[in-house]
Amino acid sequence: MTFVIGEACIGVQDRACVDECPVDCIREGPDKLYINPIDCIDCGNCQPVCPVSAIFPDRAPKPGEEHHIQANADFFADPDDH
Ligand code: SF4
Ligand code: SF4
Repeated sequence: MTFVIGEACIGVQDRACVDECPVDCIREGPDKLYINPIDCIDCGNCQPVCPVSAIFPDRAPKPGEEHHIQANADFFADPDDH
C-alpha cells in the first residue's frame, strides 16, 4: 500500500508533504512531486498537509486519477534517476 500524488500538485509543488514524510520517499519531478511506492510506509502523514488535496491512498484513488498510481511507480523505475 502506498499514497499517491495526483493532478492537483501540478503547478503548486510547495513541498509541504516532503517535510512530513518519515522515510523521505517523496521526490520532485519536472511537473509535480512523486511518492516512491516501494519505500512509502502508508502512514498518511503527508495527506492532510497538502494545500490542494493532491494526495490519496492507492486503495481509494480520486475519480479519474487512477493512472497516477502507475505514474508514481514509473517515476522511480530507474533507480539511477533518483
Ligand atoms: S504516506 Fe507516509 S511514508 Fe508514504 S509518502 Fe506519505 S508521509 Fe511518506
Ligand atoms: S503538499 Fe501537495 S501540492 Fe505540495 S508538493 Fe506535496 S503533493 Fe504537491
